Amino acid sequence: MKAVVLEGKGQVEVTDFPQPPMTDDSVKIRVAYCGLCGTDMHKFQGKGGSRPVKYPVPLGHEVSGVVEEVGKNVKNFKPGDRVAANPNWYCKTCHFCKIGLTHMCSNSKGVVKGFAEYICPPEENVHKIPDSLPLKEAALTEPLSCCLHGLDLLDVKIGQTVAIIGLGSIGAMMLQLLKHSAASNIIVVEPIEEKREMAMKMGATLFLNPMKDDLKAEIEKAGIENVDRVMECVGFDTTMETALDIAGKCATVVLFGLGDPEKPVHLNQYAAFQKELTIKTSFTNPNTSERAIALLSSGALDTDALISKEMSMEEVVEELKAPNYFKKGKVIVKID
Ligand SMILES: [Zn+2]
Ligand SMILES: [Zn+2]
Repeated sequence: MKAVVLEGKGQVEVTDFPQPPMTDDSVKIRVAYCGLCGTDMHKFQGKGGSRPVKYPVPLGHEVSGVVEEVGKNVKNFKPGDRVAANPNWYCKTCHFCKIGLTHMCSNSKGVVKGFAEYICPPEENVHKIPDSLPLKEAALTEPLSCCLHGLDLLDVKIGQTVAIIGLGSIGAMMLQLLKHSAASNIIVVEPIEEKREMAMKMGATLFLNPMKDDLKAEIEKAGIENVDRVMECVGFDTTMETALDIAGKCATVVLFGLGDPEKPVHLNQYAAFQKELTIKTSFTNPNTSERAIALLSSGALDTDALISKEMSMEEVVEELKAPNYFKKGKVIVKID
């Protein structure tokens, strides 16, 4: 089958790749769309994703498609069903699975390599989508499910002030979701000035440019007493430090952006101590896929505003080498 295959650090090409094996428990899905994720970028640069990378491997894990064939043990799917797939498989038998922390599974594996014509994940990783939900939008299920887990951890209370650091595709999803959370103020911190209008349209109440604004002074000037929650959506050491810096008293900070293992964050413990910060990280998407599909189906999100470009497998190879649309929003690759 045709696939976008990562063959080593910085080496990616559209090439022929063996179809994943079918088992009695698998659902064979003809992939329609697959989103380009920051973790694909990370893997291309030779860094790890949710798990270490083994070459050669097709990139992509944010998939929607149509069922083509089912294994004989599969109960809930039939050919023709429209679906989204969750890439993260859990064993259900290890210590962490048994205590309900499935995403911490000791034997977890990725079962969706989505920049390819076919995937064959186990039935438990497949989710039906309603007829009303276009397949292109359904490819947002996986990133949205990760955002939902991050927001569950952020635990915003009605009326609180929330800051989002970075308005990439994840930051934009977070912003749209937070608009539904009844936060009183939503501050967006983003250096690309062209994103100001988009941020305000999506529900931000204050847009700050870290390249020219004194963030804390501007927040105070806006009459905001305390930044109660901060969602970091970039992953640089500097942006994470900004998140910790603008966090107010007794704030919760979720460092959602995927960091560089070579560039650890500098933590001023004394400053954090004085504010009694709660600092969290967020890993994958435990049990949030169905909620993501429900949200996408409800029309609550402006998905057009989230997607910056639809492209082919050939075009995404170029995009990986020289990111352009990736910086402006979610790139969706049309496979079928
Ligand atoms: Zn992703
Ligand atoms: Zn397990």
